[in-house]
Amino acid sequence: MYDAIVIGAGYAGMSVAALLADRGRKVLVLEKLALIGGRAYSYTDDEGYTWEYGAHSHRLAELGLANQVFKALDDPIEFLPQAGGAKVIYRDRLWDRPEGPLGFLSSPMLSLTARVVLMRFLLMVKRAEAHAWYDRTLLDFYHTCSHNREVERFLPFFGMTIMCPDPAKASAGEVIDFLQRVIAAGIGVGDPLGGSRQIFDKLLRHIPEKDAIHLQEKVMSIRIEDGAVSGVVTDKAEYRSRRVIYTGRLPLLFGLIDRGLFTPEFVNYAETVENSSGLTIDFILKQTEPTMNGGILGVDIPIWARFQSNTDPSFTPKGRFLSTWGILLPWGFDGDATVAKAAESRLKNTIAKIFPNFLRHVDKERVTVVPVLNGTVLKPSQSKPHRPRVVCETVKGLYFAGDTVRGDGCSGDISFSSALKVAEIINAEDHAGLKG
Ligand SMILES: Cc1cc2nc3c(=O)[nH]c(=O)nc-3n(C[C@H](O)[C@H](O)[C@H](O)COP(=O)(O)OP(=O)(O)OC[C@H]3O[C@@H](n4cnc5c(N)ncnc54)[C@H](O)[C@@H]3O)c2cc1C
Repeated sequence: MYDAIVIGAGYAGMSVAALLADRGRKVLVLEKLALIGGRAYSYTDDEGYTWEYGAHSHRLAELGLANQVFKALDDPIEFLPQAGGAKVIYRDRLWDRPEGPLGFLSSPMLSLTARVVLMRFLLMVKRAEAHAWYDRTLLDFYHTCSHNREVERFLPFFGMTIMCPDPAKASAGEVIDFLQRVIAAGIGVGDPLGGSRQIFDKLLRHIPEKDAIHLQEKVMSIRIEDGAVSGVVTDKAEYRSRRVIYTGRLPLLFGLIDRGLFTPEFVNYAETVENSSGLTIDFILKQTEPTMNGGILGVDIPIWARFQSNTDPSFTPKGRFLSTWGILLPWGFDGDATVAKAAESRLKNTIAKIFPNFLRHVDKERVTVVPVLNGTVLKPSQSKPHRPRVVCETVKGLYFAGDTVRGDGCSGDISFSSALKVAEIINAEDHAGLKG
């Protein structure tokens, strides 16, 4: 009998398992794949190259939501020193990324009128109540400030910070919430030393019990007795527990449990969650762009990039360099290879325009189509207040964590934050003597 069974070994599953194990709970993590890490897995090959499913940065670095999990474990993430030098691609050119309202006021990439409007817009963001804007779009919010077309063209930059570049789609409340936290923290993104490997190595150390993590074991069903969870059945065995924490994406939940146990609203939400998709390319280079230490974000084309080995040489063998680029695929991407190919060409054409010598220095490249990048597109109907709570309201003992439920922040932060919430709730339940 386990205190809790965790389905999935990604950011969310491993975080919640570590937080519970750290408090002495007997946990079992079941992961259907052969590696831990989920959408943030990474491995180092025999030649010494570290390959990540996608380069993972953590918003607000040490002050961010990911690090809250590690602070609770008394084992904070070790971030690389803030590199500075972040850039944006706008109108086919590379510009310094403005930092804060004053940075925008002095940025030469916009006309003086646009800069003044942008500054006004950012001051409005600073004063706005995020909760009043979750149900409206970023474009709606902007139109309460101005209709300047030049600034409107620049708005995707703010959408990209929550990985939803379309201002007519992104929830204004989510953008406001994120930008307010950035302004308050005075810090952008942070990259963990060694990438995601550090994250999972740390989490593993907090789950010391041998045999607490079963890889290549798929949960086939969640068992229910008298309206409460009693355990799970996998493709290999059956395990008992009065608590199951499901960290897979919500659309996959009803493969494991009868949808009749949930409210129609929950079922409808879970079945229709819209995710984002992307395509990433890892370039191993013989020569790097030595001045590129910060990340790159596209404004009029939804791309992002990092030159990992410029700041963390542990990613490649000596004399080789790694740069990872990603591009969002169109909403509703269904695996169409021609769409992915077109995105790859668009990405490479952009790289060639910005860094004319880059592609000539490529030694090897790995192209990865990513059907699910972020589990939840942060549009109004999927903004924080609309995502399901981490405690299931209809099935006792069932909890949810991961980036499709009601964690804070965006992208992987939703996973970390929901995991922390679940662990705090379970620890509080036990503390109150409700265990078992
Ligand atoms: C290329 C890429 C780049 C990204 N970059 C960033 C970034 O820079 N910053 C950021 O914050 N976020 C980023 N993200 C998003 C981030 O990776 C995800 O939000 C996060 O990894 C999700 O973690 P999770 O634990 O919620 O879900 P997952 O990682 O999907 O983990 C769920 C796990 O559950 C397992 N599972 C599901 N069903 C079962 C079952 N029935 N039995 C057993 N196991 C099961 C799955 O195999 C999976 O391992 C990026 C994502 C991608 C793909």
